[in-house]
Amino acid sequence: MMHEPATHPLLSPPAKLVVSGVSKTFHTNRTTVHALDNVSLTVGEGEFVCLVGPSGCGKSTLLDIVAGLTKADSGTVMADDQPVQGPGRHRLVMFQESALFPWLTVLGNVLFGLKLKPELSPSERLEIAHEHLKLVGLTKFTHSNVHELSGGMKQRVALARSLAPDPRVLLMDEPLAALDALTRDQLYSDIQRIWQTRNKTIVLVTHNVREAVCLGDRVVLLSPHPGRIRAEFAIPLPRPRDINGAELAGYAREITSALKGYITSEDAE
Ligand code: ADP
Repeated sequence: MMHEPATHPLLSPPAKLVVSGVSKTFHTNRTTVHALDNVSLTVGEGEFVCLVGPSGCGKSTLLDIVAGLTKADSGTVMADDQPVQGPGRHRLVMFQESALFPWLTVLGNVLFGLKLKPELSPSERLEIAHEHLKLVGLTKFTHSNVHELSGGMKQRVALARSLAPDPRVLLMDEPLAALDALTRDQLYSDIQRIWQTRNKTIVLVTHNVREAVCLGDRVVLLSPHPGRIRAEFAIPLPRPRDINGAELAGYAREITSALKGYITSEDAE
C-alpha cells in the first residue's frame, strides 16, 4: 500500500528516489547472471536522469526494481521516503512497445490510465484525458483506433496515458528505440517541452548516449557483468536541446569514450 509522504513546509522536498546498495542475480537452468551489483542512486524532485550503458548492463532491471515490478535480492528503494514494495500509481513505466489496448480508441487508452485515480468523476477524467491528448499533439486523433496510428503517434498516446494519472515519477524504458530517426527527433522536442511544463521526475533508460545527453540533467553510466554504476555526468546545457547540436555532441563524445573504457569488446554490442 502506498502512503502519502509526510512533508513539512519549511523543509525542502525530499529526494524522489533513493536506491541504496541494490543487487540482483538471475538464475536460469544454464547460467547465473549478476545483473546488478551494489547499485546506489539518488534522483531529486523534478530531475531528469538517464541511465546509459550497453545491452545487458542491468538498466531495465534497475528500472523494474524502482517500479516495484522486480524484487531486489538486497538493498532498498525509497520513493518519497517510503520503501518500494510493489508497483504503485506514483511510479509508472512507459516501455519501448507502447502496449496500448488495440480494441480501445486513443481516448479510451488514455481514459484507461485514469482508472488509477478512482476518486475522479467521469467528467473530470474526460477533461484530463483531452488535456493530455492536447499536450502530446494528438487532439485530431482522439477518436482514432490505435491500429491507424504510426509508431511515433502510439508512443505519444502511451506518454499521454502515463502522464494523465499524474504520477510523481515517470520511468521510461527505451521509449523511442523502435522509432525512425525523424520521429525520434520530434519526440525529443516533445518530451523536453512536456518535462519542462509538467516538472515531472523522470528516469529514462537508453543505450543511445546522444539521446541521454539531449534529455537528461544527469547521465548515469552503467557497465555490465556485473551491472554497476561507473560514472555520472551532469549536463548543464540549456533547453530545449537540439539532438544535433555541437555542444551536445561534445558531451556525447566524452560519455561514449568513458563508456568504452568500462566495457570489454565482448560486452559491446
Ligand atoms: P539492459 O536493460 O541494460 O539491456 P537488463 O536489465 O535487461 O539489461 O539485463 C541485465 C542482465 O540480466 C542481462 O544479462 C539479462 O540477460 C539478464 N536478465 C534480465 N532479466 C532476466 C530474467 N528475467 N531472467 C534471467 N536473466 C535476466
